[in-house]
Amino acid sequence: MQSNVSLARRAYAIRRFALRMGEVQGQGYIGQALGVADVLAVSYFHAMAYRADDPTWEGRDRFYLSIGHYAIALYAALIEAGILPEDEIGTYGMDDSRMPMSGMAAYTPGMEITGGSLGHGLGIAVGAALGLKRKKNPAFVYNMLSDGELGEGSTWEAVMSAVQWKLDNLIAIVDFNDQQADGKTTAALAQMPEVGRWSAFGWFAQEVDGNDLDAVVAAFDAARHHDVAQPRVIICKSKMCKGVPFLEDREITHFVRVEPDEWTKALSILDEGKPT
Ligand SMILES: [Mg+2]
Repeated sequence: MQSNVSLARRAYAIRRFALRMGEVQGQGYIGQALGVADVLAVSYFHAMAYRADDPTWEGRDRFYLSIGHYAIALYAALIEAGILPEDEIGTYGMDDSRMPMSGMAAYTPGMEITGGSLGHGLGIAVGAALGLKRKKNPAFVYNMLSDGELGEGSTWEAVMSAVQWKLDNLIAIVDFNDQQADGKTTAALAQMPEVGRWSAFGWFAQEVDGNDLDAVVAAFDAARHHDVAQPRVIICKSKMCKGVPFLEDREITHFVRVEPDEWTKALSILDEGKPT
């Protein structure tokens, strides 16, 4: 287990790699990447077992990114984890890159599934968790999905299936930033009290501030060690563009356009807050 100072350093590094990739293309889903960096730091540097030099090791915990457009965030975590090389950052989003703008399993070590079409990741994770159980493999499946995907019927079919199969090796992580392509998630489709709703379906549900590393660590530990045979979900309330205030303040954060000089500004603001 790493100290939270160390996790803060990991989260900083993930944000920085993501900004550098955004700068390559001049645009991107940078708001999501900055928002979810703390949860990714806890996933990759506290919670999950994996081997950086053997990304398909059978005993690894799986991380399934349902939200393919968050690929920039996962690449940043995979670089920090030593699964992807830092020197490929300059290829981000290019035709022959191993880091395309939307995550694709066939291209990228550590990208376990091709996410988006949205609403399918949890179903894939249910199948994988069931498969691991049948193979008596003790690994866990972590599935990151978005609050927007809670408006997809297929997500709720997966929710029910996971309970039916008593998938206590499945941990869903909802990045609840209250934003989706068209605006606020809670305005697009009335969302429920999430802990109550998931609990009613039979899941062990927790809700945390997704940018509070201590809270996220505690929730991940509780999810992993919960001793009832049921699937687990962590609703992570995150802030889009977290760590770069002038981006946090923007009204439209789903797909952020950043002027060329603003990338340098964003990187220096991040560096000023570098954890010691
Ligand atoms: Mg969202």
